[in-house]
Amino acid sequence: MTDVFRLLTRSATFSRPAQSKPAASKSVPSNPVPSKPTPVVLSAKGAKKRKIAVDADVAVPDFFGQGQKRGAEATASAGKRVKRDGSDDEAAESDAKEVWRRLRANKLKFTVLSASTDEPKEDENAGDKKKKKKSKAKEEEEEKAQAKKKAKKTGILIPPMMAFPELRNYNLSRRVYANVLAQGYASPTEVQMGALPVLMKSDLEVEGVSKGTPVDLLVCAPTGSGKTLAYVLPLVNRLLRARKEDGGKKGIKAVILAPTKELVGQIANEVKKLIEGTGIKVSQFKKGHRPVSAEDTVPEDDKTPCVKSDIVVSTPLVLKHAIESAGESSMTGLMGLVLDEADVLLDELFLEQTMSIWKTIRDRSKNGCLRTSLWSATMPSTTENLMTKTLLESPTNPPAVLRLVVGIKDTSLPSISQSIVYAATEAGKLLALRNLFTTSLRPPLLIFMQSIPRAQALYNEIQYDLPTPGRIAVLHSELTDTVRSETMTRFRLGEIWILITTDILSRGMDFRGVKLVINYDLPTSVASYIHRVGRTGRAGSEGGSAITYCTKEDIPYIKGIANVIRASAKGSGGGEGGVQKWLLDSLPKTSKNDKKKLKLHGVEVRQGKDAKHRISTKSGFQRKMEDRKRGALEGSRRRKLAEASESEDEGDGGAPLGNEGGKEVGEFTGFD
Ligand code: ADP
Ligand code: MG
Repeated sequence: MTDVFRLLTRSATFSRPAQSKPAASKSVPSNPVPSKPTPVVLSAKGAKKRKIAVDADVAVPDFFGQGQKRGAEATASAGKRVKRDGSDDEAAESDAKEVWRRLRANKLKFTVLSASTDEPKEDENAGDKKKKKKSKAKEEEEEKAQAKKKAKKTGILIPPMMAFPELRNYNLSRRVYANVLAQGYASPTEVQMGALPVLMKSDLEVEGVSKGTPVDLLVCAPTGSGKTLAYVLPLVNRLLRARKEDGGKKGIKAVILAPTKELVGQIANEVKKLIEGTGIKVSQFKKGHRPVSAEDTVPEDDKTPCVKSDIVVSTPLVLKHAIESAGESSMTGLMGLVLDEADVLLDELFLEQTMSIWKTIRDRSKNGCLRTSLWSATMPSTTENLMTKTLLESPTNPPAVLRLVVGIKDTSLPSISQSIVYAATEAGKLLALRNLFTTSLRPPLLIFMQSIPRAQALYNEIQYDLPTPGRIAVLHSELTDTVRSETMTRFRLGEIWILITTDILSRGMDFRGVKLVINYDLPTSVASYIHRVGRTGRAGSEGGSAITYCTKEDIPYIKGIANVIRASAKGSGGGEGGVQKWLLDSLPKTSKNDKKKLKLHGVEVRQGKDAKHRISTKSGFQRKMEDRKRGALEGSRRRKLAEASESEDEGDGGAPLGNEGGKEVGEFTGFD
């Protein structure tokens, strides 16, 4: 048991295979960077050298169940090409084929969503000439559109990075390289293979994109597939390179936005691991701080605590307010912006806040030197269009927008065994949960609820169900930051076995030991389902499962989820999976209107006070007495708090965080 819990902590590293055991975390290998870097472009000449790069033929996280041979395959096929030794064309063709093969084998697909062109601007006073030009331009446009269509079908060729030593091709600092190795990862995950070559290279050449055009990236890759490393590493590399030029001027140079405080904390921790010993600084941005970029000047009389770290990680609202109060010169000249869980950041609740930050940073960046990347496991096409549009609106040097999809878009991991349990009524769900506790409890597990009151109600109901007290806890955004962070720590340490929560923990949180996710209440969208169940099966780990309880009231809304479960079961070759065909066939199609309603309010009956839909086995009288008692206690607590003028919540800068004034994932739809 203890071992399982030790794994919960994100800082626990994987057991390393003997042959790839990296240098100790604190020491830098004596010569990690070869004096002649291996070329990135695949060529017969480079093939031999790549052998160095693909010596990691060891256990790797394998999200799509295609075996663990990537490193060996790469070496073997590279070797074949060297032997062929034909004409240049032949070699180029076989190189291209090899790149295709690698991209396909790892389920990577690149698409150029939109590229700026370097066509000359039209002369306004040229009559006929103009017409001719126009028709020519039209032809060219059509050609381009056709090429784009073709590329959309097949994707474009960018050689993936097959092993971590290839990082040395990108002028990566020795220290950062050592920090990567110290994580103990045997080889890059699929998303890292695809994204790192794009983001690490400053002069990447992409088919259909004019030379020298900067590239911004949208990435859709499964939950737990290692997206964090894929964006942090290039960011750190860029900042380190820039430091050589600007002499290490203090100030914010990059921003990472994420939807919840918990995720912000987790990302900041990941960044810390990679920047150790580099001099780069990272901060979690908190309420009451003032963001200061390198170009910014702070008025002398301003006493607000300043944040001058190179990288800041923040939730949107708190940063938006801080930028607004810091004035025109704040956030100028930034080099990097990352939107993690980008689809939710650009969803209704966060849209205005995120766009405000994004546009400010984009428009105040210098000479288009800002590189932006957006990441999620789910990406609706409307959000994708908005992202592309916003990127292309850059006032200086608009980028080409590239998209990388890993696996099949908007699906849950095939390695997670998923099922829908029809419990008929609210009481049936409670019964099913208690039954699970007594028959097959495999802690730690996460239970997702529709709203804060329901999370609290389930906690109140089941908190004494386990023989050892304190093993069940609840976490939502109405708790103080101190309680939230303590609960997270205790859960990661394995002291809490069952964590009841809202969608606040559905996005991005990485708990390695979680083997079971229970959707006690139906998620409010298919995307939310994919993210909730994605809290298990992290980093390719096997044995994760997810159970979704469903009652009569859920029937109109459940088809989308049932389809995802069946698609994922097919993906793993597991037949029909946890949804029987009869159930799927009998489920009605969810109407657009119903989808919208669900997203806004959750399943409506669960909002009301109707006793039928309450989570409780207590009688009305019992509950009334308890409510009275709780009210009296609350009142006395509030009186005490009012007496003590200072809030208990002290952020980094000494400012109370409390409610950020906005809402977070799961707390946003008004039903919490
Ligand atoms: P995502 O953001 O895609 O959901 P994370 O970045 O949170 O995934 O990573 C999920 C887990 O995978 C983390 O525990 C991380 O330490 C681990 N991980 C990242 N890269 C690798 C790798 N190359 N090999 C093995 N595990 C990895
Ligand atoms: Mg993530």
